[in-house]
Amino acid sequence: MIPSAFGYVRASSLANAIDLLRQDPEGTRLVAGGHTLIPTLKLRLASPALLVDIRGIADMRGISIDDKAIRIGALTTHAELLASQQLNDVFPIFRQTATRIADPQVRNRGTIGGSIANADPAADWPAVVIALNAELEIVGPTGSRRVPAKDFFVDIFTTVLEPAEVLAAIHLRRPTLGARFIYRKIRHPASGYAVVGVAVGLRMEDGLVAEMSIGVTGAASHAFSGDAATRFLMAKPLSHESIEEAAKLVSEATECLSDRYASAEYRASLVRTETKRALLSLAA
Ligand SMILES: Cc1cc2nc3c(=O)[nH]c(=O)nc-3n(C[C@H](O)[C@H](O)[C@H](O)COP(=O)(O)OP(=O)(O)OC[C@H]3O[C@@H](n4cnc5c(N)ncnc54)[C@H](O)[C@@H]3O)c2cc1C
Repeated sequence: MIPSAFGYVRASSLANAIDLLRQDPEGTRLVAGGHTLIPTLKLRLASPALLVDIRGIADMRGISIDDKAIRIGALTTHAELLASQQLNDVFPIFRQTATRIADPQVRNRGTIGGSIANADPAADWPAVVIALNAELEIVGPTGSRRVPAKDFFVDIFTTVLEPAEVLAAIHLRRPTLGARFIYRKIRHPASGYAVVGVAVGLRMEDGLVAEMSIGVTGAASHAFSGDAATRFLMAKPLSHESIEEAAKLVSEATECLSDRYASAEYRASLVRTETKRALLSLAA
């Protein structure tokens, strides 16, 4: 449980962090909340030569909300997301999700950016940012780019981030009037992570589905968007039959993970049940 020796430096700015990453992409790791990285170092699953602490970078902190959009700095902690009344007045799903992440100690240190960049297949925020149609602001040596959250997660612990890139912020559009969001999670009894987590956004107009989004975590190698179900439900009423069919489509969207706690069949069945429950609850 003792990490290998490493150097430590506090980045003075985002540009400084990127420069340090660029000099030795293989041997350098960013540290934000440290609540995933430090255990990884202690178990020697990673042995970087240099840790670059990004917590002091002011541009990557805080939540700003205007008439049209919301920007969440990547260094915003789970506890800050839980506590922000202004954010939760617009998107109560942040409080709903943050309260289900670990315990107050982890929530006080862990960051939304660290969670998204780490892409643990069982992490909670990936499903939520997909369902909110978030855009992720990535900054690297050649400038910045924005990637839709649903295209960000590529494989287990793998994202579209290039070696010298940093996830700087999460951008959201304010929801259309009447849009509602929900996150449902089946917690692993030992770790508290998601065995399956389903985030759903829905807006009805004249009794028909006008906007819909589904993000799923825990089930597969990486979080994914339930696009087939969304396409199927658009412009349809939310009947018992259409909800059943949509939930089935989400559960069949990808190959599920299998481990000692939950088989692939069980995970697929949880995806189906939780999607159905989320839709029924939003439809009510
Ligand atoms: C006991 C315990 C229980 C937990 N339970 C849950 C849970 O129920 N649900 C859940 O979702 N999570 C859970 N977590 C994980 C927790 O939320 C972590 O804090 C989070 O996943 C990582 O965030 P961090 O800021 O600590 O990142 P760090 O540990 O600092 O970094 C994680 C990785 O991401 C990289 N990184 C960090 N920030 C950035 C950035 N801005 N740009 C690019 N790369 C970056 C780092 O280099 C590192 O590789 C738990 C953790 C613990 C210790």
